[in-house]
Amino acid sequence: MMDLTSPAVVRELITRHGFSFTKSLGQNFITSRSALERMIALSGIDDETGVLEIGPGIGTLTRELSAHAAAVAAVEIDQALLPLLKETLSDCGNVTVYHQDALKLDLPRFCREALPYEKLAVCANLPYYITTPLVTILLEARCFSTLTFLLQKEAVDRLCARPGDDGYCAASAVVRYYAEPKLAFRVGADCFIPRPKVGSAVMTLRPVERTLSEAQEKLVLRMIQAAFSQRRKTLTNTFSSAGLCTREEAAALLSACGYREDIRGEALAAEDFIKLACAMRAE
Ligand code: SAM
Repeated sequence: MMDLTSPAVVRELITRHGFSFTKSLGQNFITSRSALERMIALSGIDDETGVLEIGPGIGTLTRELSAHAAAVAAVEIDQALLPLLKETLSDCGNVTVYHQDALKLDLPRFCREALPYEKLAVCANLPYYITTPLVTILLEARCFSTLTFLLQKEAVDRLCARPGDDGYCAASAVVRYYAEPKLAFRVGADCFIPRPKVGSAVMTLRPVERTLSEAQEKLVLRMIQAAFSQRRKTLTNTFSSAGLCTREEAAALLSACGYREDIRGEALAAEDFIKLACAMRAE
């Protein structure tokens, strides 16, 4: 079978199929065998795991996933890649390719139907232009025991950031509400075709259990969005302009929870937002 980590093989394949890259879809295909092997090892995928891959591209990571998992559901938006995938995955009986926009999937339902396994994982080299919304919906779905992503290094830094770090933002706090994020290793630009302009890295996300009610959870997420929507403003201002409570109620809430009344959202971690939401709403 063809070695898709060989740049010469990849070039021959795409030329033969007359495929041209669509930059706006974030198409950078991985050609590093060691990066693939390390991703698989980190993800803990075994022959009882159903794996979701977003954006299989020409199937390089997909083939590796197929060799280790019970089944792989690979969701690809670009119709032009389907004939290439048909060829490269022809000997992978446990892979199904779905021609869909991953952002439009009803994930819990999709996983129930496409991957009827107890243990589910997601492992993907994500298109950079939708990293944050994709990571968010994958976490919100609460279907996966591990999530392993190859992303732009900058996106990994943002998703792993803590209060006080450069790049700490709403997505950093949302990610830590759902999971424990970790930078695993860096991947150089030479490991892709075409070569991206920026560095990349692999990160893992281990979901954390939360015992909040649905209403409290919604409030945590609304508080985080409100807190970062106007970064220069204090939480009393952002909470009141988002309609969460009045300025006076926000000030009382902050002081009851032991925070200064002029504190800004960027100083708070996911755990702080949880504390505030639970104090505002008992159940
Ligand atoms: N997995 C392949 C690899 O590692 O070589 C390709 C990764 S490439 C960074 C991202 C892939 O995601 C491309 O194949 C692109 O067409 C696909 N893609 C982009 N937007 C998508 C979307 N909304 N839904 C599903 N796939 C998408």
